[in-house]
Amino acid sequence: MKNRMKLFKSIHFKIALVLALILLVTLEIVGAIFVSRLEQTNLESFKNQVKIPNYVKTALINDLSKKDVNKANIEIKSLLLDMENNEKNTEIQVVDSKNTIRGTNRIDNQSIIGRRNQNPDIKQFLTDPSPNKQVYSGIKNNPSDNNRYYTYIAPLNKPNGSSAGAVYVHSNLNQVYYEINKITIIYVVAAIVAILLGLFIAIVISRAITQPIDEMKKQTLRISKGDYSGQVHVYGDDELGQLANAVNTLSVKVEESQETTEAERRRLDSVLTNMTDGVLATDRRGNVIIINDEAVSFLSAPKEGFVGKPILDVLDIRDRYTLRELIEDPDELIIDRSDASHDLILHAHFSLIQRDSGFISGLVCVLHDVTEQQKIDNDRKQFVSNVSHELRTPLTSVHSYIEALQDGAWQDSKLAPKFLKVTQDETDRMIRMINDLLTLSRMDSGTQKMEKEMVNINELFNYLLDRFDMIIKNDDKPDKMYKITRKFTRKALWVEIDTDRFTQVIDNLMNNAIKYSPDGGTITCSLYETRNNVVLSVKDQGLGIPRNSLSKIFDRFYRVDKARSRAQGGTGLGLAISKEVIQALGGKLWVESTEGKGSTFYIALPYEPMEEDLWDEN
Ligand code: ADP
Repeated sequence: MKNRMKLFKSIHFKIALVLALILLVTLEIVGAIFVSRLEQTNLESFKNQVKIPNYVKTALINDLSKKDVNKANIEIKSLLLDMENNEKNTEIQVVDSKNTIRGTNRIDNQSIIGRRNQNPDIKQFLTDPSPNKQVYSGIKNNPSDNNRYYTYIAPLNKPNGSSAGAVYVHSNLNQVYYEINKITIIYVVAAIVAILLGLFIAIVISRAITQPIDEMKKQTLRISKGDYSGQVHVYGDDELGQLANAVNTLSVKVEESQETTEAERRRLDSVLTNMTDGVLATDRRGNVIIINDEAVSFLSAPKEGFVGKPILDVLDIRDRYTLRELIEDPDELIIDRSDASHDLILHAHFSLIQRDSGFISGLVCVLHDVTEQQKIDNDRKQFVSNVSHELRTPLTSVHSYIEALQDGAWQDSKLAPKFLKVTQDETDRMIRMINDLLTLSRMDSGTQKMEKEMVNINELFNYLLDRFDMIIKNDDKPDKMYKITRKFTRKALWVEIDTDRFTQVIDNLMNNAIKYSPDGGTITCSLYETRNNVVLSVKDQGLGIPRNSLSKIFDRFYRVDKARSRAQGGTGLGLAISKEVIQALGGKLWVESTEGKGSTFYIALPYEPMEEDLWDEN
């Protein structure tokens, strides 16, 4: 059904139909004219055939004027039988002025001669009194035999004008019409053949026209689907051929421009994908149309979830800005996307996508991760505040002691030395802190050079611990009991370190172990080698470190218990410096601790056993 509908709609069908209709109409008109002309000429020639010639008329008038009726009738009879148009289809009668039939051309009907004429037409003609009677002629259909007849009545007037009678010709037109019909049928058959032939030619021609059009249609459909591989066959150099050429050129051009667009898109895609910044682009209504992977990971949601959504919702800034504000004053803003699991602070930079005409067709937002920067910034602020706070406490205490001394305490021989001792301790601590800060600052800026040398760490560690043992031994009134045990490898382990800085680190760890073990206990120091490292550890049985402080104790100024640390003369910078030193030596410093049970600090230093072998050989 659908195919049939298609056929009726096709140019192919329409051209064939139009051509066939034109042919039909033309043949119809030509046929109508032809048939009517044919009828006319045939009738005309027939009429001429049956017309009574003038010489016969004159002879008949002559005969009718004769007195001897019988003789006259014989002459009339021979005259009529001799006539050229004396056919069997035609009846000729001669009637005199008294309405008596005087002759007929019908051999079988000679009996009517002498009888009165019964034909009303002739009667009427004869009784017509007008002097100049014209010939009467006409074609009538005879209902009794359904034939058409031609009737012709001509007056027979004497030279003086008086009527001698009339001659009546009655002829069957069957033969004439039979001839006409025969020719008409031939014509109709020829016309039908011509129409069929024309239809066939029309189909062939329209096919020739529509086939290239059809091919071009299919090719353009393929182009629209993105298949540029085909080529339309060019049949000739006519308009259709030119159109086919144009379609082929178009296909190449579209393919080229498609490839260019595709390449541009891929380039843009790879630029966007490889950017470390997040990029979002919106349409002019502010709905996201492009978003790169980085932006997706910043905003942490599936990519499809963002496309088509308003940018205000995607960035979650609807409560702070309207789209109009972003467009009118595209500026920069900080978006905090931090959650419980991680910090994320984004810097968003907006700019407009604007055409030459000034029409704003969208908005581009570039997201830059500034979490680290913000953290550094915060750390810096925190550090300044810490330093001022750390210095203010001892300064205030020094200030108040000096004030007390000024107010007269200097005269008190008991109090004065005590107060002076406190001020000295506090200033010492401040100097230590300033020195520590300077060391850290030098390490930060890289100006603190490591004086590296190959040292047998086994020997050095032993030496440093001997010093602590000595202090314990010389302490006459110890406020707590503790001892140091060593679990050392016997092997000499040669490591490249800065001896002074390393000593500082061990001192710091040992001092902490003592400081934060108020009840004393055993401090276990061990030294062993692994495949690529030597590992030193200092283990105490002291206070330990709460779990949530473990990651912070290497931060500057961080102390689990500020009061205790200060009371012990701590600055909160020891572990920070130690960590920097060990890192500068290419090693690692870490801690394991259980609150209330004790802590173990580990130092791992890079170590190459090969070198030791070399030394051994020497
Ligand atoms: P401080 O001068 O305060 O000792 P450190 O940087 O050396 O500064 O140490 C930082 C903090 O780490 C200390 O204040 C203390 O709370 C904790 N700490 C360090 N060593 C130990 C240890 N062996 N046992 C328990 N806590 C310790």
